[in-house]
Amino acid sequence: MTNDEMWKAVSENDASYDGIFFYAVKSTGIYCRPSCKSKLPKQNNVCFFDAAEQALAAGFRPCKRCRSDISDYQPMKEITGKAKQLLDESFYKRCELNHKLQQLGISHHRMAELFKDEYGVTMSEYVGNLRLEEAKRLLLHTDDEIIEISCSVGFDGLSSFYRFFKKGTGISPAKYRKEHRK
Ligand SMILES: [Zn+2]
Repeated sequence: MTNDEMWKAVSENDASYDGIFFYAVKSTGIYCRPSCKSKLPKQNNVCFFDAAEQALAAGFRPCKRCRSDISDYQPMKEITGKAKQLLDESFYKRCELNHKLQQLGISHHRMAELFKDEYGVTMSEYVGNLRLEEAKRLLLHTDDEIIEISCSVGFDGLSSFYRFFKKGTGISPAKYRKEHRK
């Protein structure tokens, strides 16, 4: 995130950034969560930290109002964790997955940002990797037809599965099975 983005989140008291970063106010010596309802400081008095510990180490004190010292108060982090769990469990069930992600109550766009911040990969990269690993496993350890495998990992067409697999491994599913199976 850039300083401008963080400043925007602070000036809007945007709770969806809680746990993502903290801001500290040089004139008061206090650090806060982005959602803190205390008076908006002057922008040139503010500095940003990724973690509460860093703000503490720089000599700032936690805010009594937003309790910036309570580290488990990180609702957005929780939501991101739940999203990851959903991807892990349901990556091959596209509709169900989208539906469940929606129920977490934040926009897809915002979720995508949070996920990338937290795990360093996009949600689609993450799901793609899960699908690829599962496809490889099925190719090597089952006798399922390739069309069944493509279905099991969430593709509705064989050609899109082929393209996807080839992009990830450099070879076709059939060749992969033949070359790697003992
Ligand atoms: Zn505060």
